[in-house]
Amino acid sequence: MEPKVPWWTSPIEAVAVKRKNTQESWPTYKTLLKNEDNQIKLKNFEEIRGHISDWFQYHQLFEKFKSDKQKGFSTEISRFESDLVNSKRKTLSKTYRLLLDWTVKEEEVTVAMVRWSQDFGHSITMAQWENLWKINWKFTNCYMIRENFQKMQHRWYLTPWKLSKMYKKVSRNCWTCGESGTFYHMWWIYRKIQVFWESIHAELQKMLKISLK
Ligand SMILES: [Zn+2]
Repeated sequence: MEPKVPWWTSPIEAVAVKRKNTQESWPTYKTLLKNEDNQIKLKNFEEIRGHISDWFQYHQLFEKFKSDKQKGFSTEISRFESDLVNSKRKTLSKTYRLLLDWTVKEEEVTVAMVRWSQDFGHSITMAQWENLWKINWKFTNCYMIRENFQKMQHRWYLTPWKLSKMYKKVSRNCWTCGESGTFYHMWWIYRKIQVFWESIHAELQKMLKISLK
């Protein structure tokens, strides 16, 4: 969520012994650090003595700062900060929404998407995928074809390869030619399928009177 140490963390709160039922305001890194010659440093004892109790705490703080520094600091305001840390109201529903968002984002790259780029031998950008989802799939209003399109994209079909993982006795090879029955093979590489696609390609060119690469 926050790969670097965010500005809004309070190192003292992290090391302090908590007293129950108190709402103390702990100084955050935003208060405690300074940017000097493009380097993030802990302020001097004198500069922050109003925020900390004594030298001992300053020492603790320094140790914490040293270890956090290795991860680096994120000085940009993240959504986590703007939506949650700085907001006093409706925290629960906001947290929930934020977490949902995060989960969805992490799942954006699905197994199927990775497999497709492995099969094609080149990467497919997120923009190209989005184009496919948002624009290309509207090429028809026919729901049967749309369904087909979705199933293809998500590699929904059961191939010999998949079936062999479900059932021990099933061979994972193509039932016609004996090569490994992966999705890509069954759909594209298998030579009879190739002939089929080539005829479609030829027909399309004839119908549309254009040459398709
Ligand atoms: Zn085959």
